[in-house]
Amino acid sequence: MSHTATKTRLRGVVFDMDGTLTVPVIDFVSMYKAVLGENEYQRIKASNPVGIDILKLIDHWSPHQQRQAYDTIAQFEQQALHHLQIMPGASELCNLLDSKKIRRGLITRNMKSAVDLFHQRFGITFSPALSREFRPYKPDPAPLLHICSLWEVQPNEVIMVGDSLKDDRKKCRTANVFTTRSRKDRKIRRY
Ligand SMILES: [Mg+2]
Repeated sequence: MSHTATKTRLRGVVFDMDGTLTVPVIDFVSMYKAVLGENEYQRIKASNPVGIDILKLIDHWSPHQQRQAYDTIAQFEQQALHHLQIMPGASELCNLLDSKKIRRGLITRNMKSAVDLFHQRFGITFSPALSREFRPYKPDPAPLLHICSLWEVQPNEVIMVGDSLKDDRKKCRTANVFTTRSRKDRKIRRY
């Protein structure tokens, strides 16, 4: 009996940033409470036990409320940048991918300045690196498909590495991209 199944070649790896390439440092609960207020946070949390999509919530607010919310989120993100740490093994993995000429991309719901600082500290650049300024952001599959299109590869030739079942795995299923979950932080975060 002969096996004729053809192997799909891995052409690129797309990484999540917070909690995957960096050690998670953002205090998400405090950030949600600061944006929503204690009572609203408890109410929304009760109806979203898996996690809160704070950016999606904010999208429905008035421009003034949105500005305030983004300012608050930016403050938390800015604070976290002071404690930015690269995930152990991330650098070695990137070197391995480079040696095999496998492309490396990045998708995050964090802001562009955080990605810029990460690149600076890490000393390795991911390209493309899409931050939340790219709309629609994950878990929408659009950023992932955008990268596949730029790389001129099929979605099934790409792997997404992330720590969030909601954001990283969901968009991969929609985009037909393989996914693997980083193991350092096993908590499910929706950010
Ligand atoms: Mg993450």
